Amino acid sequence: MGLERILKLGNPLLYQKCDLVTQDELPGLKERIVEMHELIKLYRIKYNAGRAIAAPQIGLMKRIICYNHIGQRTIINPTLTNCSEEMIELWDDCMSFPELLVKVRRHRYCNLVYRDENWKEQSWALSDDLSELMQHEYDHLNGILATMRAIDQHSFKYV
Ligand SMILES: [Zn+2]
Repeated sequence: MGLERILKLGNPLLYQKCDLVTQDELPGLKERIVEMHELIKLYRIKYNAGRAIAAPQIGLMKRIICYNHIGQRTIINPTLTNCSEEMIELWDDCMSFPELLVKVRRHRYCNLVYRDENWKEQSWALSDDLSELMQHEYDHLNGILATMRAIDQHSFKYV
């Protein structure tokens, strides 16, 4: 298992909407969730970046996000609420296109409501870097990539 497991820009699965997870199927997804957390750590060793991954990036078409940076969270069936009118602009990156940055606009504040790995409902108030990160990951669950949110035709940069 390595970083080659992560689907890259252009893979059709990255443009599909993911399905809700049911409580019954959660035990069967545990292994994939562990794998997602491991991939974040591997990615960070190689690229010195990367804080979260969404399930479709490993071809798992389920509404799951793993966050692994300052602490660890498994985010199941999230909904984004209370998105602020105030926006921020940033150069976004993605594990599915490690060499490309895309300039996007995101809400400065938002709230994420989700189930954790024990199916307990959680609410996470987000601002700035965590807010933009979770909007990015949430987009993945709906088949939306940062490239599709580019502010204009000049919003692409190779690194
Ligand atoms: Zn991404």
